[in-house]
Amino acid sequence: MRLTIIGCGDAFGAGGNLHTSFHVRSSASTFLIDCGASTLIGMRRLGLDPKDIDAVFVTHLHGDHFGGLPWLLLDAQFASKRTRPMIVTGPKGIEARFVKAAEALYPNSTTAKSFKFTFVEYEEQKPLEVGGITVTPFEVKHPSGAPPYALRFSIDGKVVAFTGDTGWIDRLDKVAHGADLFISECFQYDVTLPIHLDYKTIDANYDRLGAKQVLLTHMGEAMLAHVDKVDLSRFMVAQDGMTLDL
Ligand SMILES: [Zn+2]
Ligand SMILES: [Zn+2]
Repeated sequence: MRLTIIGCGDAFGAGGNLHTSFHVRSSASTFLIDCGASTLIGMRRLGLDPKDIDAVFVTHLHGDHFGGLPWLLLDAQFASKRTRPMIVTGPKGIEARFVKAAEALYPNSTTAKSFKFTFVEYEEQKPLEVGGITVTPFEVKHPSGAPPYALRFSIDGKVVAFTGDTGWIDRLDKVAHGADLFISECFQYDVTLPIHLDYKTIDANYDRLGAKQVLLTHMGEAMLAHVDKVDLSRFMVAQDGMTLDL
């Protein structure tokens, strides 16, 4: 499988990075993990075709993680002229939040679709199979109007886990343990917030997390200002456009 970072940014555009979205091409399907508002632009920059997307796995309902869906729909209807179904998974209430957002931006865009656009809601720690990919959602700590989740994926025999946005909770070791790749948000450097992670906390819990590789993402300005202090024997640092083969 190949993971391409479309966007590794936070909500504030720190460092000029695009909003969060990871593109995964596997033998079973091609999908996005999160779809922040700038995702379609990022895909065009990288030559990734939105027509190839089978599914979108959303961690939580903040615009820098799901706000790109209205443009994905717009592309599917009017540019790509999609006929193949697309599945979006997310927290309870995702469809209503999506419709509200899409209708505010492009009135009537959610009616009369030329393809099946289906939403599936997570149930806590219940594995879900979509397009040959198994994902297990773990509720985390990040108020966003609906339950936020960390996601643990089984893809082509590999495990990829992603925190989404969250403050530290002990459950993260279950999310990360033994993962071939653990993608962790790292909004702060040494300031511990209840709703976001920071480098010092992740580093202090490195052994406990027990992942084979850790990729830091969603870095805010404070973290980017200290990015030279990252222990590169432990961590990889995300950049827009970066690819990883697993
Ligand atoms: Zn975010
Ligand atoms: Zn968020």
